[in-house]
Amino acid sequence: MNVLIIEDEKMLALEIGDFLEKEGYLCEWAKTCEKASEKIYVNSYDFILLDLGLPDGDGFDLLKELKALDQREDAVIILTARGAVEDRVRGLDLGADDYLAKPFSLLELSARMQAIKRRRYKISRNEFDIHGFSIDLHNKEVRFHTEKVPLTPKEFEIFHYLVLNKNRVISRMQLTEHIWGDVLEINSDSNFVDVHVKNLRKKLAACTTTDWFETIRSVGYKINVT
Ligand code: CA
Repeated sequence: MNVLIIEDEKMLALEIGDFLEKEGYLCEWAKTCEKASEKIYVNSYDFILLDLGLPDGDGFDLLKELKALDQREDAVIILTARGAVEDRVRGLDLGADDYLAKPFSLLELSARMQAIKRRRYKISRNEFDIHGFSIDLHNKEVRFHTEKVPLTPKEFEIFHYLVLNKNRVISRMQLTEHIWGDVLEINSDSNFVDVHVKNLRKKLAACTTTDWFETIRSVGYKINVT
């Protein structure tokens, strides 16, 4: 899952980024409104961590910009030193998903991100089952009944992302964005996504039939669950 950290304090941004990367998130950093705005227009993110006090403007304006874009589901957590109730209320009213007042613990940030993910995808725990496979988000493992499926980290992320978005077509572009990050930096002609998906599918198919794992020709992929 990809995260955009919008924060002008370099040390804090690096600390958050290091921590979340260890947790398996893919992080990008923007330290100004201008840079953040550019990124938001080009990429969509699973999470946006938004500082309110930025050198060239106000985080609330970025939040308004984001919410004015069509078909965006980026979850926004406001991070700010401003503890005022009015700021908190304003952020939530503008459509932020949560709010953390600085200083905050990174463990709390991670727990809140997990909670947003569970709400969003309607999963009740960090482990869930699909067609005989169980996906353990904490240990980043997939098992088929009791047998561990030897997925690479990228294959795990792809499977996890498709399963969370079950019954929806996920395009190659969306997968690229959420698993590899900034699409601007990636050669869009490359078929590397398909190669990873093919390997993933082969490993799943070694366990059981995978007719629920659909390829939508020239669009992307879909995992069907009834
Ligand atoms: Ca700031």
